[in-house]
Amino acid sequence: MPTALSNNYENLKKLGNVTTGYGGKTAGEPFHPGIDVANRRGTQIPAFTPGVVVDVKTGFKNGDKDFGNLVKIRDAGGKIHQYGHLNQALVRPGQTVGQNQPIATMGDSGNSYSPTGGDSSHLDYRVESRGAYINPLPFTQGGQTPNVTNGSGLRGTGGIGGNFDLSKQLVEAYRQRQGAR
Ligand SMILES: [Zn+2]
Repeated sequence: MPTALSNNYENLKKLGNVTTGYGGKTAGEPFHPGIDVANRRGTQIPAFTPGVVVDVKTGFKNGDKDFGNLVKIRDAGGKIHQYGHLNQALVRPGQTVGQNQPIATMGDSGNSYSPTGGDSSHLDYRVESRGAYINPLPFTQGGQTPNVTNGSGLRGTGGIGGNFDLSKQLVEAYRQRQGAR
């Protein structure tokens, strides 16, 4: 198991309970193309990777039909990092953000299918490269903000959910790295 990816996963667990991983199943998706992390509504979400804010949808319950209130950040390599189901966005389009800068708060806007327990608030994080979703785990080397409490505040799913296969996710991420330029 590549050590860097294990560290990334540990970072995610500081943000909340990882309820559905990349490739997991949800009620609405046979292949979940992102990572879901659940914690209390209002938990601050850090930018995992620095970049420029290219899209913000917020201010109403269903900002986007599927993802609700969302923030999209383009990194230096052109990949789009999408943070969905937000309670509130803390950034504006055009703004440059640094790694671990708080960009939003966790919510349950849009249509969410993941098991989240608690008040059903969670982050859906996904990364798009050339029009296709790729495994986001290699990009979660950030993931900490000063006020983030860990996922132990939520009951129910407790870390790795039933349909979440970390080893599969890590192997897939590693393959993608090997195949990268
Ligand atoms: Zn999701």
